[in-house]
Amino acid sequence: MGENSGIEWTSHSFNPWVGCMKVSPGCTNCYAEAFDRRVGGVPVSQRREGQKALRWGVSAPRTRTTESYWRQPLAWNAAALAKGERARVFAASLADVFEANAHFDLDLWRLELFELIRSTPALDWQLLTKRPQHVLPMLQTALGARSRAAVAPETIEWLEAWLAGAPPTNVWLGTTVEDEERAVERIPHLVAAPAAVRFLSMEPLLEPVDLRRHQLAGLHWVIVGGESGKKARVFDPAWAADVVAAARAAGIAPFVKQMGSRPLGMKLSDPHGGDVEEWPLELGVREFPRAGALLAAAASGDDRPHRPGAP
Ligand code: SF4
Repeated sequence: MGENSGIEWTSHSFNPWVGCMKVSPGCTNCYAEAFDRRVGGVPVSQRREGQKALRWGVSAPRTRTTESYWRQPLAWNAAALAKGERARVFAASLADVFEANAHFDLDLWRLELFELIRSTPALDWQLLTKRPQHVLPMLQTALGARSRAAVAPETIEWLEAWLAGAPPTNVWLGTTVEDEERAVERIPHLVAAPAAVRFLSMEPLLEPVDLRRHQLAGLHWVIVGGESGKKARVFDPAWAADVVAAARAAGIAPFVKQMGSRPLGMKLSDPHGGDVEEWPLELGVREFPRAGALLAAAASGDDRPHRPGAP
């Protein structure tokens, strides 16, 4: 479990801004939108004076988070250095870092995020997107925002190097694959983007996806899990078992996150189906990418071999 995140595969969550737009079936029960409604957000078309706007939809607001919040990763970085242990940061849980939006200057916010990532080398940033086709063009357009941002020249060099094929060692790039259609559409974009570590988040997985039929060279990590919540869709644990087998055969580290709230053929006491102790032994698999471990070891000067399953 993360230090300040309820997500098992990360240490911290960071949101450079809040707000997004749904793009695919995996977004149907978006927990971030549900959170925004719970804190009083009302869709722009129904909103009355004084009511807070829901930040989901094409023309709904996106809200940049506060300066003090943006300083938190610097403290996490200092703590990681003091401890001699790298930490992982998931960005973003309440937005999509690679969303395109004509109404807000997300290029500027992205450039500022990239500067923060460059300034925190003891943190491994897990950038997870449902829009991997935007990664390369948006690295370029973030560069174009340099005249509007007070970023260090080193950040521009860092971005230029990334675009030239030398990606930062502390960025893990991931995309969500919830069904076969999204596997076909998104995996090629992910593997085409320069990244030290590439991963798939197959959560919520909505149907069986045979990874063997896809281009897996260049992928390092696969997270799989079912949907949780009142409106959760059914998840067959056999789908996870198949993803684990396909990942192992391709030399990719598998991480089974949860069975979700409606696992077929299982009665679980944990409402998210996240308690490994309740699962069949073969599903209790929580490994981290070897590439990430090697990069972390290189960064810390430790070249001991990676222990399987160790972060
Ligand atoms: S991309 Fe993520 S944050 Fe955006 S609507 Fe979909 S599930 Fe929600």
